Amino acid sequence: MSQDANGVTQADVIVIGGGLVGTAVAYGLARNGADTLVLDQGDDAFRASRGNFGLVWVQGKGHDLPDYSRWTRSSAARWAGFAQMLLGDGGVDVQLRQQGGFHMCFSDDEMLERQTRLQTLQDALGDYPFQMLDAADLKARLPLIGPAVVGASYTPQDGHVNPLKLLRALHASTQARGGRLIGGVQVDRIDCAAGEFCVTAGQRRFIAPRIVLAAGLGNPGLARQVGLHAPVAPNRGQVLVSERVRPFLDYPTINVRQTDEGTVQLGDSMEEVGFDDRTTTEVLAKIARRGVSTFPLLSQVRLVRAWGALRVMSPDGFPIYQQSPLHPGAFVVTCHSGVTLAAAHALRIAPWIMGGEQPEELGVFTGDRFLTDKVFSHAH
Ligand SMILES: Cc1cc2nc3c(=O)[nH]c(=O)nc-3n(C[C@H](O)[C@H](O)[C@H](O)COP(=O)(O)OP(=O)(O)OC[C@H]3O[C@@H](n4cnc5c(N)ncnc54)[C@H](O)[C@@H]3O)c2cc1C
Repeated sequence: MSQDANGVTQADVIVIGGGLVGTAVAYGLARNGADTLVLDQGDDAFRASRGNFGLVWVQGKGHDLPDYSRWTRSSAARWAGFAQMLLGDGGVDVQLRQQGGFHMCFSDDEMLERQTRLQTLQDALGDYPFQMLDAADLKARLPLIGPAVVGASYTPQDGHVNPLKLLRALHASTQARGGRLIGGVQVDRIDCAAGEFCVTAGQRRFIAPRIVLAAGLGNPGLARQVGLHAPVAPNRGQVLVSERVRPFLDYPTINVRQTDEGTVQLGDSMEEVGFDDRTTTEVLAKIARRGVSTFPLLSQVRLVRAWGALRVMSPDGFPIYQQSPLHPGAFVVTCHSGVTLAAAHALRIAPWIMGGEQPEELGVFTGDRFLTDKVFSHAH
């Protein structure tokens, strides 16, 4: 990367946004030898990357859009190797545990709904292993499960990481590969001329022939400037964290997981409340009740922290990946499963941005789909 006499910084690729999505792409770019510059607004921005649940989650995703399932599974399949790369480059162990995950059901109707969803996926994809476990089977795998749980679904590709270590690993690994991260930079304007993008942030300017919009909830306004459509909006999730307790849960579940440090995270709420990342007693109580129903021993455990964080959600819940038809070289990359998809972002999206083939699953994920009447239900 270089700076000219006018103080303009040049790079091969500028990535706007230093959250999980931007730094996963940046890491992939830097690994492939691109001179990569990440510009990030800073710590007071809304950041899903600092407030999430840490799941690498495949189970049930894409039952109404099989390409989403394929894309998710392609990332999950690469996660073990990806974690090793991050350890090798940045020296940070993200604590990946990927031996499958459970989705608990509290009624026979929930069991049936779950079975139908996973069977639909298996019918569409062929190779989609899953198991439905009744209460006795489940107790054999998870001895501390509560009596209110009537059964669970299990898929073997699910896992979890420490999400804060993941963000740190991505930053460290990108830098170790020569990428540069600049914080405290709020991009206001993007101009396109003669095959180059000029990015303005206050008095500072940055130029590159390729640009990636990975600014989370900041994407809609940036996308418009380069002929892209990225109508993402906030969706709040609230999370509870307990004191450290002895290991009791080897597997992640959709609403309770024990971290590598011994704390227990409880969550899985979804609310459309705009740019409001506060917590509410009502939702936290519901999350806690469900956690205690799942594992009754949690009633004895002290809670030490709670927070709200904003998901980056498109209208149908699926990601948006697109190169601008009007300004080739400008890409938008945004999704609401930035942990799960980090491996695919680094290992499959980055080569596309550098001029390689677009990954085959991605054709359906353009932002332009929202310019038509097509509507999917929320992906989960
Ligand atoms: C409660 C909760 C639980 C979740 N659980 C999981 C999970 O278990 N598994 C999973 O896969 N995903 C999960 N997610 C989703 C995951 O956290 C997000 O997909 C991911 O963090 C999105 O990363 P991002 O980089 O797109 O956005 P963000 O983390 O929001 O980062 C965007 C960055 O862009 C920067 N920015 C914005 N505008 C500008 C601008 N104009 N100029 C410069 N920089 C700018 C900001 O500073 C920010 O750092 C969860 C999310 C939440 C909220």
